[in-house]
Amino acid sequence: MLCYGQNVDRVLLPRNPCPVVVHLKAEFVKSVTDPGQLPTDGLPEVAFLGRSNVGKSSLINALVGERRLAFTSSTPGRTQSLNFYRVDDRFYFVDLPGYGYARAPREATDEWARFIEHYLQSRRNRGTAFLILDARRGWMDKDLELKVWLEANGWPYIVVASKMDKLNQSEQQRGLKAIRQYAEPLPFSAITGRGVREIWQAITKTHQ
Ligand code: GDP
Repeated sequence: MLCYGQNVDRVLLPRNPCPVVVHLKAEFVKSVTDPGQLPTDGLPEVAFLGRSNVGKSSLINALVGERRLAFTSSTPGRTQSLNFYRVDDRFYFVDLPGYGYARAPREATDEWARFIEHYLQSRRNRGTAFLILDARRGWMDKDLELKVWLEANGWPYIVVASKMDKLNQSEQQRGLKAIRQYAEPLPFSAITGRGVREIWQAITKTHQ
């Protein structure tokens, strides 16, 4: 049995019974701002999507057990390119530009939308997409648009409810229930490591 995310588990879940340690190799490959720069080697692409500041970069870092692979920022809207990370020489993790950053100029927003749309429509080597929602906020209009869009274009996706550690027990139940209105979420926290194992299981199940 291979246990991805082991680095994270060892720190955060010391009683993890997984017997095999995998040294996960994860490296930044490139930032893509133009369709002509997209990789052509055909590795499956696991896409991470969500509003700016929802925790995409933190999720990627938690999955690979590194603090600083993906750029995290408390300033929303700064990740304006598609960032490709090669993970374990088996997949690309693709950090897509966050949407819904109110202070971005209108043309820039339109340009990102077109670029994301082009990316999502054109890729043949589709891995699972993770649609990340802030557990405190649930679905917002843009998330629902993206969900409909993923379904219409046949992208397999899983919804992640991020930042669970920011909610108390009853708020967590309420937040998850609200998200369940449209899809079953995987609860996640980059702080506690909750959900790392389940997300890895979902990825490896799709790409055995
Ligand atoms: P991105 O813009 O979607 O890539 O979001 P980031 O990963 O940069 O995170 C945005 C902010 O939320 C940063 O200040 C992170 O430290 C914080 N954050 C991200 N994930 C979590 C989480 O699971 N729990 C908590 N408490 N904060 C988080």
